[in-house]
Amino acid sequence: MNLYQSLPSDLADSVVPASVTPLGAAVLALVRDSAGDRLILAAPNAEALPASFHGEPQAGAGGMAVLVCPRNAANAAALCAALPNLRPEPLGLTASAGCGDRLGLATPGHVRAFHTVAALPGAQPLAAIFAQQSIRENARTGRTPAEVLDDATWGAFEAGWRGAVGADADHLKTTSDIDACVAAGYSFFTFDPGAHVDSAADSDAPAEIERKAAALPWTELESSLADLRARYAGQSVDLGDRRLRLEAESVLRAAAKYGHAIAHVSALYRHLAGLGVPFEVEVSVDETETPTTHAEHIYFASELRRLGVQWVSLAPRYVGRFEKGIDYLGDPSTSSPHGGASQGQALDALRADLAGHAAIARALGPYKLSLHSGSDKFSVYPLIVAATDGCAHLKTAGTSYLEGLRVLARVEPALFRAIAALAGERYPADRATYHVSAELNDWPALAQMDDAELPALLERDMPREILHVTFGSALAQFGGEIKAALVRYRQLYAEVLESHFVRHLAPFARAAP
Ligand SMILES: [Zn+2]
Repeated sequence: MNLYQSLPSDLADSVVPASVTPLGAAVLALVRDSAGDRLILAAPNAEALPASFHGEPQAGAGGMAVLVCPRNAANAAALCAALPNLRPEPLGLTASAGCGDRLGLATPGHVRAFHTVAALPGAQPLAAIFAQQSIRENARTGRTPAEVLDDATWGAFEAGWRGAVGADADHLKTTSDIDACVAAGYSFFTFDPGAHVDSAADSDAPAEIERKAAALPWTELESSLADLRARYAGQSVDLGDRRLRLEAESVLRAAAKYGHAIAHVSALYRHLAGLGVPFEVEVSVDETETPTTHAEHIYFASELRRLGVQWVSLAPRYVGRFEKGIDYLGDPSTSSPHGGASQGQALDALRADLAGHAAIARALGPYKLSLHSGSDKFSVYPLIVAATDGCAHLKTAGTSYLEGLRVLARVEPALFRAIAALAGERYPADRATYHVSAELNDWPALAQMDDAELPALLERDMPREILHVTFGSALAQFGGEIKAALVRYRQLYAEVLESHFVRHLAPFARAAP
């Protein structure tokens, strides 16, 4: 059926071509004009229109039935019911990538990047997560889990996504976080027990480690100190390409560090599993102070498994610094962004670290290794893909916001200058909850820069960090203007995102960009 011939001409001119989707005898499409976005359905007769959509019937050409529906939550739900690939579902062990989107405008660009990568020579399947937002980001962006999901659904529909989707309820810390995201229809639940990780255990004296281990919540862990020793101390674990011997001392230290976190993850898992919805779980301890050793990873994963927790991916805290929106920085003791040990040495250390974690994930799972703060870590992607043989998950969040700022720097320099000035003011306070190393003296004197020089700020690490971690302040003050500008320049935003994300995704699809 030709949708364009059946529509009233004013609507036909405004159809977003990529969105045109056949559904039985009917056709769906997004219409976009000065009145905003609407969903239209056209069918040979009214009976052939799917019943679940809410809209105004209109007469189409030649007796065709047309329904014009507002872009709202009810019709997003109808869209997911009619096009099941848009309904979030567990994605399993396929390599995957999650794209956070703080503004709700980035999904069409993300979809374009997935399409482009899938068409590259040698590309392997790469599963997509377009809706992904932490409760912390929701608080800062003033959005609900349902709004995040709906924006991703509309974006995927607009851009003609035909693959499956997951939806990542990221960095969940409590059972009420879980409930809110289950109600909204999420499928991928990232448990963050970071607040229960005792990083001081890395350097505590042996007596203190003994005391901490004895004081663990043994009832919740369904175990005892004697059990722990019997189960792990002195064991040699076969990891396929290597063996790792667990010394009694490092077992106790691992328990002191991660024992409370294990109990917390187990409680979150049982709560989620009791809700009777399809789900998959990621466990992340990436936002903790000190790296997860290989022995600690073995203890952590073995204990979770003993308690019946099943997970599809795990994000240890790897060695070195994973700062927001810039490439890998290596070990803070041997390097700094202002100079220091070579990037090559830092990457060698990370390569060895990843190889061990990947061997554990194969031997105790298999499960995917997850790369959090994965935005712009271009030097890390080939390493994690090689170590895991592609059994990996990439998680990016803030880089789509930064790419939005890149668009503004090009086309709305006055707005960009206002955002940048605010970022300079707010950075000292806003950096508190992030791992960043930019200092305000890294911030250039904007007043002395020409407009044409502004986009290049987005090429430099330290300005990127300052702009990245102040996104909450920027949205609080300029959110309306930022979104309106990116809607005006949505085509450019999608193009900028596409080229930026192809560089993120191609390594995980094992394709050459
Ligand atoms: Zn994370």
